[in-house]
Amino acid sequence: MLRDLKQEIKHLETRHLRRQLRIVESPSDPTITIEGRRFISMASNNYLGLANHPGVKQAAIEAIEQWGVGAGAARLISGTMTPHHQLEQDLARFKQVEAALTFGTGYTTNLGLIPALIDRDGLILADRYCHASLIEACRLSKARLRVFHHNDAEHLESLLKKREKVRPTLVVTEGVFSMDGDLAPLPDLLALCRQHDATLVIDDAHGTGVMGTNGRGTVEHFGVNPQDLIQMGTLSKAIGTSGGYVAGPASLKEYLINTSKAFIYTTAQPPAIAAAASTAIRIIQDEPARRERLRTNRNALHAALTGLGFQLTDTQSPILPIIVKSPERAVEMSQALYEAGVYVPAIRPPTVPKHSSRLRLTVSSEHSQEQLETVVAAFRKVREAFSMKSTSASG
Ligand SMILES: *Cc1c(COP(=O)(O)O)cnc(C)c1O
Repeated sequence: MLRDLKQEIKHLETRHLRRQLRIVESPSDPTITIEGRRFISMASNNYLGLANHPGVKQAAIEAIEQWGVGAGAARLISGTMTPHHQLEQDLARFKQVEAALTFGTGYTTNLGLIPALIDRDGLILADRYCHASLIEACRLSKARLRVFHHNDAEHLESLLKKREKVRPTLVVTEGVFSMDGDLAPLPDLLALCRQHDATLVIDDAHGTGVMGTNGRGTVEHFGVNPQDLIQMGTLSKAIGTSGGYVAGPASLKEYLINTSKAFIYTTAQPPAIAAAASTAIRIIQDEPARRERLRTNRNALHAALTGLGFQLTDTQSPILPIIVKSPERAVEMSQALYEAGVYVPAIRPPTVPKHSSRLRLTVSSEHSQEQLETVVAAFRKVREAFSMKSTSASG
């Protein structure tokens, strides 16, 4: 028998875990329209404002004129067009590696990458806070999966010491953690991998474009050698478009082209999206001022929210999560902010662990100082309204 879906949904509802789609009636900008009303959006991964940037749009429009809309076929058949090839060269140069390969989305990049690297004879050691797409990819590989405590190099080391030496081993983590905003200790993880003959794979979905002097990502931020690890990322966050990529050795690219199902058995991404992504990557490198504005905005908002007494995670990125513990409280606060014209989503399990529901703000380089002040004022009001109820009792 199938599950009673209506009953399941009701069960989610009673636990404050039911989710619903909100329809946005405007582009991804610092302000957005929902139900005909304007909101300041603190809910987009469009960190540098490139999703609706005139130059990026123009690149897509011109590429549609030249290449049409659909690629018409999978990459290995006849779907690899000049813009796809160009984008992969641009990504490889940007990431300072031999080669890059693009996929339809960041999610399918992980599904295509991990099972190509390791099989049931292998061992994967993954950070506890890894994104759902990484965990799904690890399961799909059929390798033995072990989880280490979040950002805990000592725990990872103990697991590496315990393993059977013959097992090929991957260590999997994120550059910038998507729900916490903190960074993986890449130099420590790399040293352990070198010592124990393991391969490090990082998902830099939120680091790319944001971290490092030139926006190359978490690898640049820490000054580690891009040749020492395998990186994947998405084109859908700071790069402002859609799709995902793997960046690493040329042999890895060729092997993925030949074996990765999520690469082979799907139509190539629209060529205009590839062209737009190439333009966005150029802007990321040519306009460091965007990253500086992002940092200034992020620091100002972080200081203001901390000053109001909110409990933030140990974030080092433009992701600013406020832990409120109970899903019910998170939803109520999100709703109160919504009524004040500020859109901040409530993030609940299973996206985050139990008792760590949160409001998750993402800052953009394009938010104005005035907009951020409005956000802080809304949080001040919410703080006052909710201080009547005890936060700790709701955990
Ligand atoms: C967003 C995200 C993905 C998925 O990327 P999409 O392009 O949105 O499919 C993968 N990993 C992490 C860590 C992410 O935050």
